[in-house]
Amino acid sequence: VGVAEWDGEADGLELMRHADLAMYAAKRDGKSCVRLFEKGMSGVASERMTLEQELRRAIAERNIEPHFQPVIDTGSGNVVAVEMLARWQRNNQPVPALGFIRLAEDLGLIGQLSMQLLEKGLKALRRFRSHYPELRLQINISPLQFADPGLAASILQLVAEYDLPSTALAVELTEGAMSLYPEQVEQTMQQFVDAGVSLHLDDFGTGYSSLARLRDLPFDTVKLDRSFVMMLGEGDTTLSQAVFDMATGLQMDLIAEGVENQAEYEELQAIGYRQMQGFMFARPMPESALIDWLRAQAAA
Ligand code: C2E
Ligand code: CA
Ligand code: CA
Repeated sequence: VGVAEWDGEADGLELMRHADLAMYAAKRDGKSCVRLFEKGMSGVASERMTLEQELRRAIAERNIEPHFQPVIDTGSGNVVAVEMLARWQRNNQPVPALGFIRLAEDLGLIGQLSMQLLEKGLKALRRFRSHYPELRLQINISPLQFADPGLAASILQLVAEYDLPSTALAVELTEGAMSLYPEQVEQTMQQFVDAGVSLHLDDFGTGYSSLARLRDLPFDTVKLDRSFVMMLGEGDTTLSQAVFDMATGLQMDLIAEGVENQAEYEELQAIGYRQMQGFMFARPMPESALIDWLRAQAAA
C-alpha cells in the first residue's frame, strides 16, 4: 500500500501519482508493507520505469537466457537432473533472478518469459541427454502462471514438440502458489501427474502451508531450503531432520539445496539426504559450459 498526504496544494491527479510512487516503494521493500510518499521517490520511480522498459525489451528480444545447475545423487555420484534458472545481463551486469522475475510478474510478462525459457531449456536438454540419456530438467513456475487453465497443456505440448518424454520434466513450485489459486493449482498439478511429470515443492519450510494440505497434494519431492542447510553448518540439525522425517513419512523424495561445503554435506548424509544441489558440486552455468562439465563427469 502506498499513502500520500495532501500538502494543501497538489491536485487530485498529482496526489494519486504520489500514492502510486509510494506503492512502488512498498513493492520494492518486499510488498507486505505500507509506505508514505516522500519527495525523493520521484527519482527512484524513473529508475524503475527504465528497468521496466529494458525488461520488456529483453523479453521481446528473447535475451533472457537459461542457466543450468546439476542435481547430484550422492549415493551413486550420478547427475540426475539440472535445474533451469533464468539469467539476465543488463548492460553487461547480471540482474538478480528474483528481482527481475518479480518485475516480470508485476508486468504480466511471466508467462511469456517462462515459455521462451522452456523452449531454450528443452532444446538444451536434448543435447544434454546425448551424454546423460536419463537427465531431467527441473523448471520453476511462478504462482501467477496458475491463473492460466491451459498451463499444463501448453507446457506438455512444448515438451512433445521437442520429442522429449514428459517424464524428462520436473516442475517446481513454492507454497505461495497454493494459496493464490488453490483450485487451479490442484487441477494443473493433476494434469502434470497424469502425464508423468514430477512435482517438486520448492523452498519448503519458508512459507505457511498446512501439513494436511501438503499431504493431499501430489508432490513427489520436497526441496529442503538453503536456510535449513545453513543451520547444519552451525550444528543445528533439528529442522533438516524434521523435514526429512515428514517427507519420508509421506513417501516423498528429497533434494537438499544450496549445499556449499563439506560440513553441510556430511550432516545431510548423516540424516539420510541423498540428492543434493549446490555450489559445492556445481554452480548454475550456461548450456555450453554444462556440456563440458557433463563430458568431464562422464570421463571421470
Ligand atoms: P530457487 O528455485 O530456490 O533456486 C535456487 C537458487 O539458489 C538459485 O538462485 C541458485 O543460483 C541458488 N543456489 C544454488 N546453489 C547454491 C549454493 O550452494 N549457495 C547459495 N547461496 N545459493 C545457491 P537464483 O538463480 O538467483 O534464483 C533465485 C530464485 O529466482 C529461484 O529460487 C527461483 O525462485 C527464482 N527463479 C529463477 N529462475 C526462474 C525462472 O525461470 N522462473 C521462475 N518462475 N522463477 C525463477
Ligand atoms: Ca527451484
Ligand atoms: Ca529453492
